[in-house]
Amino acid sequence: MGNCLSRDDSKTNSYSPVALAVGESKSFNGVQIVPEPVYNWHQTEATTIISLDSNYKELRPEDVVINVSNGVHLTIVVYLGSMLYQLSGEIYATVSEMSVDFIDGRCDVCLTKFEVSHWSALHGGAPLAVKFAPKKKFEMMYCSCAVKEVRQVTHDTKMFLVEFPSLAYVCVPLGHHVFIRHVAEEYEIVRPYSPVVNLEGDRGFEQGRSILLLIKIYPSGSLTRLLAHLAPGDSIEVSRHEGTFTEECFHHTDTLFLIAAGTGLTPMTKLIRRFLEMGESKQVKLLCANKTEEDQIMERELTALQESSHARFEVRHTLSQSSATWSGLKGRVNREMLQEVFNASEGKEIFVCYCGNLPFNIMMRRILRGFKFPEDHCHLFG
Ligand SMILES: Cc1cc2nc3c(=O)[nH]c(=O)nc-3n(C[C@H](O)[C@H](O)[C@H](O)COP(=O)(O)OP(=O)(O)OC[C@H]3O[C@@H](n4cnc5c(N)ncnc54)[C@H](O)[C@@H]3O)c2cc1C
Repeated sequence: MGNCLSRDDSKTNSYSPVALAVGESKSFNGVQIVPEPVYNWHQTEATTIISLDSNYKELRPEDVVINVSNGVHLTIVVYLGSMLYQLSGEIYATVSEMSVDFIDGRCDVCLTKFEVSHWSALHGGAPLAVKFAPKKKFEMMYCSCAVKEVRQVTHDTKMFLVEFPSLAYVCVPLGHHVFIRHVAEEYEIVRPYSPVVNLEGDRGFEQGRSILLLIKIYPSGSLTRLLAHLAPGDSIEVSRHEGTFTEECFHHTDTLFLIAAGTGLTPMTKLIRRFLEMGESKQVKLLCANKTEEDQIMERELTALQESSHARFEVRHTLSQSSATWSGLKGRVNREMLQEVFNASEGKEIFVCYCGNLPFNIMMRRILRGFKFPEDHCHLFG
């Protein structure tokens, strides 16, 4: 973490620590009690380091979101199951750089002071506010991000590389989404988007510092008709992440079956990459549903991945309005189409994820119920 030298113990916070060991949690009347994180801080002349002990050894980079807006307004959010911990408020003086380290359940946020000086407290005006409560009791946090690149992907979808400010850290977990907000004089538009990864080469973004969004533009859509005009150098407001998916749910599965309609493919890209990385025994089958050939997203990347995957990744496409030359599956996703795939995977434990528009999701839920899939072997992104 660079030049973090001496610890100034007199500046530790007085927030009451919990009497649980790292990684331990207790339950009371069957309700899991999540221990509350504690924070501490120390400084050198050049840096201030905030150490946040989450009490969870398994704390991952994606469990922490940080933003220091205008160099002085600090927000640190820690995701702990159904609970959020938030430390927020104005810090003593302006900072110009930030780096983050994770060690055994502790998160160290190292802030470089704009001016070399000694801080007599961590906070500026009022003491920093601490809130530890169920997720739904928090307002969404947004930060202004820079659009770095825009690329037309199909006739109506665009890829946006969006960079968080240098004093922000947002690492979106697998299967989670962010919100984009547009605030006009009299109204506010907020829509969720699932960050994607490149399926070939590097991920296409820098973990924690940027995200890649693939967005379908609706000419009459409230938000996307505005996003259609974004160019490199413009800014957009992006939230911290949200979602219910946890990677653990498919750890014991050998076959992941993904059903995506249109831009429902977006959460699947990360899943495909991550699942294939988990071991040679893992297989992914993807069924993409679109209207026409022109609507197919990332088709070249998916085909290339299939060819290089040694039969561990298989993609099928179905079109509801196919041309005479189309040789893939035809029609909307239906029971028979899924039956064929499930039969081919007989004897294997399957985990199914699906994502599309509302009518598609309702239809998929009905079909999957018909197959008597255990609820905990299915996940809907939506
Ligand atoms: C968890 C989640 C993740 C998502 N991730 C992505 C993603 O990665 N990429 C992506 O492109 N999208 C994604 N979406 C969809 C996205 O959030 C927006 O819904 C989408 O971008 C449309 O927003 P909009 O404001 O432009 O359109 P809206 O104004 O919401 O309208 C969408 C379309 O419906 C039409 N419409 C609106 N109201 C009506 C009505 N009453 N009757 C008939 N038609 C109507 C509009 O004309 C437009 O064509 C995701 C959705 C969810 C829930």
